[in-house]
Amino acid sequence: MFCLLLSIYTVLAAIRLLESTTTYDHSDVLDFKDPCTDAVAHMGDIALDEEDVIALGLEIRKNKSTNSDNAGLRLSRKQKRKIRELYRKQRLVQRQRRKVAKRRNSQSRGSAKLRTRAATSKKDRIWPGGVIPYIIEGNFTGAQKRMFLQAMRHWENSTCVTFVEREKKHGNNYILFTYRSCGCCSFVGRKVDGPQAISIGKNCDKFGVVVHELGHVVGFWHEHTRPDRDDFVSINHQHIEEGQKYNFEKLKVTEVNSLNESYDYASIMHYARNTFSRGQFLDTITPRNLSRLVRPQIGQRKHLSEGDIRQTSKLYRCKRCGSTLLALEGGFESPNSRNQDCEWRISITAGFSILLNITRIRIVGNCEQNFVEVRKGHDTESPLIQRLCATDTHYFVNVQHNRLVVRYQSTMPSNFISAQYKWYCGGHLELDEGYLYSPNYPDDYPLGAECLWSITMTENFQVGIRFDFFDMERHENCNYDYVEIGDGPVIIGKFCGWILSEPVASPSNTMWVRFRSDTSVVKGGFSAKFFKEINECASPDNGGCAHGCNNTIGGYECLCDFGFELSADGKNCEKACGGLILNQSHGNVSTPLWPANYPANKRCIWSIKAPEYYMITLKFVFFELEGNDVCKYDFVQVTSGNENLGKFCGNHSPPTISSPSNEMNVVFNSDNTVFMSGFVAQWFLDKNECQDDNGGCAHICTNTLGSYNCSCRADYTLHHNMRECKEATCSKVITTLMGTILSPKYPLKYPSKKDCTWSLEIPNGHRIKLIFNVFDLEFHDNCDYDWLRIIDGDVNTGHSLDGDVTSGHSLGTFCNDETKEVAPLTTSTNRVFLMFHTDPSVEKKGFKIDHTTVCGATLKAEVGVSNQITSHATFGDQPYDVEQDCAWHLITQDPLVGVNITWQQFELEWEKKCTYDSVRILDGGRHGEAHGPYCRDDEQFADTFLSKSDVVDVIFSSDGTIQKKGFKLTYQGYWLSSKKASRMANPKKGKLAMGD
Ligand SMILES: [Zn+2]
Repeated sequence: MFCLLLSIYTVLAAIRLLESTTTYDHSDVLDFKDPCTDAVAHMGDIALDEEDVIALGLEIRKNKSTNSDNAGLRLSRKQKRKIRELYRKQRLVQRQRRKVAKRRNSQSRGSAKLRTRAATSKKDRIWPGGVIPYIIEGNFTGAQKRMFLQAMRHWENSTCVTFVEREKKHGNNYILFTYRSCGCCSFVGRKVDGPQAISIGKNCDKFGVVVHELGHVVGFWHEHTRPDRDDFVSINHQHIEEGQKYNFEKLKVTEVNSLNESYDYASIMHYARNTFSRGQFLDTITPRNLSRLVRPQIGQRKHLSEGDIRQTSKLYRCKRCGSTLLALEGGFESPNSRNQDCEWRISITAGFSILLNITRIRIVGNCEQNFVEVRKGHDTESPLIQRLCATDTHYFVNVQHNRLVVRYQSTMPSNFISAQYKWYCGGHLELDEGYLYSPNYPDDYPLGAECLWSITMTENFQVGIRFDFFDMERHENCNYDYVEIGDGPVIIGKFCGWILSEPVASPSNTMWVRFRSDTSVVKGGFSAKFFKEINECASPDNGGCAHGCNNTIGGYECLCDFGFELSADGKNCEKACGGLILNQSHGNVSTPLWPANYPANKRCIWSIKAPEYYMITLKFVFFELEGNDVCKYDFVQVTSGNENLGKFCGNHSPPTISSPSNEMNVVFNSDNTVFMSGFVAQWFLDKNECQDDNGGCAHICTNTLGSYNCSCRADYTLHHNMRECKEATCSKVITTLMGTILSPKYPLKYPSKKDCTWSLEIPNGHRIKLIFNVFDLEFHDNCDYDWLRIIDGDVNTGHSLDGDVTSGHSLGTFCNDETKEVAPLTTSTNRVFLMFHTDPSVEKKGFKIDHTTVCGATLKAEVGVSNQITSHATFGDQPYDVEQDCAWHLITQDPLVGVNITWQQFELEWEKKCTYDSVRILDGGRHGEAHGPYCRDDEQFADTFLSKSDVVDVIFSSDGTIQKKGFKLTYQGYWLSSKKASRMANPKKGKLAMGD
């Protein structure tokens, strides 16, 4: 029946493996099975070992590509190798089993199925006697520990499973509550070879989740992986997060048995409806119980279900009669029937004692089969306190222990037993360390309770006590519920409320602790550890401290003399690094211990302060730190005031750094690994001439080492005296496709005696449009005073600005005032040159001209000169515009020269007949031979078109929707008269031409 173990159960929704940033000390348990790192694979929060992989026949191969995403099947190369090896073994085992089964079948039919199970391994998975020893790692908070206790007691409350704090006598099999990198994770059942961890990560330290994880420890899988699950739930594979599908795999019927328990939607081991879902509202599991009107809820994490309890009882063969009693007081009584085998387990707060009163008893019959046994401890192996048979006397048992087991066996119908128990607390403890808890801990303390403990320790020690959980009714003077600590007549403290106090110690080796609750309001209580308080600093070696030693309760700390600081070992002192540097003109700073490697965990700050008007220059002469680009671990950081002047690491010397003010901070930081030589830097002061009257600079003064520079603001140039600034000539080169041209000082009046130019250039094949939004100059019939001249085409911008331009053609000279509008202008080429002149008198508002682009142009195609056209000026950055109608008029100006067009890129909205967006070619100009329309949308653009005539129009039009990348072509002239050319004159049947 050990196959029972393999009944299937669930994981938590939303458990994600957590990245642990804290390193914990596992020194108390050195060697345990870690569900995060020792597992060969994970199935949700279940850690699978090799045995599981074989036993369950999980199809891990399918998922081996699964990724490193959290909670996934995370396999290292080593693990993959291991799994391949396991599968090889598995196949061998299966072959072996088939053989055995065959043989058995031929011998006695029917029993084969049971025997095929790996009975021994499953037997080992069950905790003997249902006793699960545990250790809770010290890193958890008191509140977390309390919750773990509550979760364990929840299991005990309804089943015969017992969790006990691990002692030597429990051997080497126990669980360790710990915080591992994989968040919430556990193995299933007991591992045979030593301690095993149950990892409780940051986001899963919740009661229901811990109860679930303990379910795995007890021996349960996830409910939805039961072989018969398809009758009860549907798995919505399409909603499962990438790489997590294997968590929903069904286990094999030959390997799993659910102990004749029906599928349990309410199990705490069931996945939630959206566990591992791609989105919160995409269910991965849907119950398919159609006989009910309401779909059952799944994935509860509140308590064990009835089914969980029944199945555990079957798995651990709990006695039908009896129970676990967790209340501080209560009772039990035998049922009225002939054959009885009962077990009552009383378990109250650790450190408390039980007073059992057997109020009614009659035991007749054979003493071997009719008896009552009372044992001090948690199971039937515990020390026997009393064995009663052939008796009807009342009986009192006083057990100075928090656990008691009462076993009652009877074959006689007239036998019976009825008992009550109570608790008591306090007493004298002669221990050097231990724990104290409030009554009923980890649950709320009762009303009107009082406990008094007195502790005596080895002489010459003090008693220290530290609370790790504290929650008592609050009152200013702690008049209601409180914990009071004292030593003899001395009151050390009285505590209430919920704030953890600092540890306290008694002046001698004794201490008393009193707990008291009044008759109203109950709270969570407290847990406290008491320990031997040693004054480490009083030892002959001064606690190992090189300089000073400061004792604290429960520890001590070393201190260093002035000018020294604590080394990484926390005991030795080394010369302090860093410091304030004043009134010096130069100096060196270097890493501690230089030229030896710098020490670990150092932070040195040198703060250099110079007199006013001085700045500090830092020059590194040696530099070698851990790291390269990302200076995360070891680094040097230089700051001045709030300004960061750089953070450096690696082995390249940083540049020389000058502070903008008279102070500089140099910070050196080292972490706890990798040590190198460090750095040496020289620093010196330099007068900041700029701080005094701006160094005489008219605009901007920049200090340099030993000197300074003046510079000017935009639109000004430095005068040859190197201090003053004069207005720069206003000449601008504009290559943006759109923008605004403003007259000088616009919107203020333009200055007199000015000559400004603007030279605009956009991509070939496009033209420039100028829109005159504002235009207001001094008017004159011949524009003799102030004027704007616009020249279309290529202009030698180095030419003197006297109005004579040798190339390009003038689009006009304008001197309109406000009353005379200037109509928009479009150039014929991709360049335009604007010249603006003002005379010595009359200043007006000036102008504001917007410039934009227009597609199409008349262009010259020359032999041997290749030029380019794009469908739109922003080609390559943006798609073409809607509603375009562009024409490029390519002329060779020689009847013997044709036009060669080569498509470099071509991507238009495609439609069979190219009715939306298209390109057409007219060989011979407007009325020439038409080719196209083309709108091919493929990757072939390397097609050449050779014209028969000396003029070709390329027409591009786009409709109102769908914009594509557009096209790019090159064009040049070619000789029509050569033989070769005449052959080529027929349009080549290329990819583009196929559309005809
Ligand atoms: Zn789980």
